[in-house]
Amino acid sequence: MPSEDYLALQERMGQVKDLHSALGLLSWDQEIYMPPKAAPARGQQLATLAATAHRMFTDTEVGELLKRLGAESSLTPDESKLVEETRYDYERATRLPEAFVQKFTEERSKAYEAWVRAKDENDFEAFRFNLENIVDLSKQKADLMGYEGSPYNALLEDYERGMTAEGLRPIFSELAERLGRLVERIVASDRGPDTRWLDADWDRDAQWEFTQRLLRDMGYDFEAGRQDESVHPFTTNFDLYDVRVTTKINKKDPFEAIMASIHEGGHGLYEQGFLPSDRRTILAEAISLGIHESQSRLWETIVGQSPAFWAHYGDILREAFPEQLKNVSNDDIYRVVNRVRPTLRRLDADECTYNLHIILRFEIEVALIEGDLKVTEIPELWKEKMKQYLGLDVPDDARGCLQDIHWSHGSIGYFPTYTLGNLYAAQLSEKIIEDIPALWEQVEAGDFSQLLHWLRTKVHHVGRRKGPAELIRDITGKDPSSEAYLSYLEKKYTELYTL
Ligand code: ZN
Repeated sequence: MPSEDYLALQERMGQVKDLHSALGLLSWDQEIYMPPKAAPARGQQLATLAATAHRMFTDTEVGELLKRLGAESSLTPDESKLVEETRYDYERATRLPEAFVQKFTEERSKAYEAWVRAKDENDFEAFRFNLENIVDLSKQKADLMGYEGSPYNALLEDYERGMTAEGLRPIFSELAERLGRLVERIVASDRGPDTRWLDADWDRDAQWEFTQRLLRDMGYDFEAGRQDESVHPFTTNFDLYDVRVTTKINKKDPFEAIMASIHEGGHGLYEQGFLPSDRRTILAEAISLGIHESQSRLWETIVGQSPAFWAHYGDILREAFPEQLKNVSNDDIYRVVNRVRPTLRRLDADECTYNLHIILRFEIEVALIEGDLKVTEIPELWKEKMKQYLGLDVPDDARGCLQDIHWSHGSIGYFPTYTLGNLYAAQLSEKIIEDIPALWEQVEAGDFSQLLHWLRTKVHHVGRRKGPAELIRDITGKDPSSEAYLSYLEKKYTELYTL
C-alpha cells in the first residue's frame, strides 16, 4: 500500500495535470473552432488557468511532500521514479521568481505581435528591439536556472534533457559537412523527378478520406482521438484516451496533407501509447521533444517515404484520384515525395536539406546566448550561412531570419530537437529492421502492427522513466549520433539520384 504522503502527492499532481488538460483543450479549441471575437476572453481564461496550475504545483506543501518522500525507503521503483520526476519539475519551476515569469510572458506576447508585423512588412528593424529583449531575458533565465559549460545548456534543458551545446557541436558539424556534400551531388546530378502531374486539382474530401485511412492503418485509435484541419498541423493530448491530431489540406498538392497526417499520427501514437497504469501521472508524458519528434519522423520519413509504403498506398491513392494518377506509377510517386531541392524556407525543406536549416539556427542561437553575436548582426549572418550551407541567396529577411515563430515565442533552444528527432528516428529504425526482418514486406502489405508493437514496448510505455540519451542507448546500444541518419540518407539518395 502506498504511503499517505505518496497518495497526497499523486493526487496533487493529478489535479495539476487536470488543469493542464483543460488548458490544452482550450488551446485546441482556439486553433480549431473558436470564433474570432472570443480571442481576448480566451486569452484571460488561459492565463488564469496557467497561473492556477503553476501556483498549485509550486506550493510549499508540494515541496514538503517531496522532502518527506525523499527520505521514504519503502517506495516501489515506479513510485520513486514519480517522486524523482516531480522533484525535477518542481525544482525547475521554483527557480524562476514569479515577477520574472510575468515579465517574460509579457515580453513574449509583445515580441510575437512585433514579429507578425515585421514578417509581413519584411522589416527586421521592427522586430529587433523585441528580439533583443527576448535574448536578454533568455540569458537571465539561463543564470536563474543554472548551468555547466554554455549558458545555452540551461535553455536546451527545457526541450531536450541532458543535451548540451558542447555535445551537439561535433554531431552537427559532421552532419553539416556530409549533408552539404550529399545535397551538392544531388543538385549537380540534375536528375530530379518529373512533377508535372502534380499540377492538377486534388479533391478535398478524397484527400481527407485518404488521411483518415492512413491514420487507422497506422493504428491510431479514433475511439481515443480525432483528426481535424488547422493552419499549422499539430498534436495535442488531454489524456492518453484523448489525443488529437490535425492536418492541412492543400488542393494543389495532396502530399502536404498526407505527410502532415502521418507525421502528426506518429506523435499521436506516442501519446496514445503511454501505459494505462501511468494515467494522470507525470510518467505518462514524453521524455523530450527530440524523442517525440523521432516518433513522428520515423513514420513520416522512414516509413512514409519508403518504396515499400508507396508500392502499397500508390494503388490506393490512384483509386481516390483515378484521373490525376492515370499515367503515374507508384515509383513516380515515391520519387516525388523524395525530391530534393534547397529551399529558403525551413518548412519547405526535404529530408536532405532540413537539418542544414536547423544547424544554421542552432549556431546563431548559441552565438546570441553566449554573447558572441548581436541581434543586429543576425540578417547578415543568416545570409552568409544560407549561402554556405544551401548555396542560396536570401532575397529578403521575410524569407530569411524572420520566417520562424520560435524566437518571438521565446523558444530559444527548441530548434535542435527537430534534428535530434531525425537522428533518433534513424538510430531506432536500424534496430527495428534488425528486430523485424520482414518489416518492409509488412509495410508493403499496409500492416504496421508489428512495428507499432515494437514502438509501444520499447519507447511509448517507457514514458518519463528514462532520459532521451539513456533511452536511445538502452535500445540501440549506441549514444545519440548522426551516423545512422547519414548512412540512411546517403544510401537512399545515392540510389534515387543514381549518384
Ligand atoms: Zn513534429
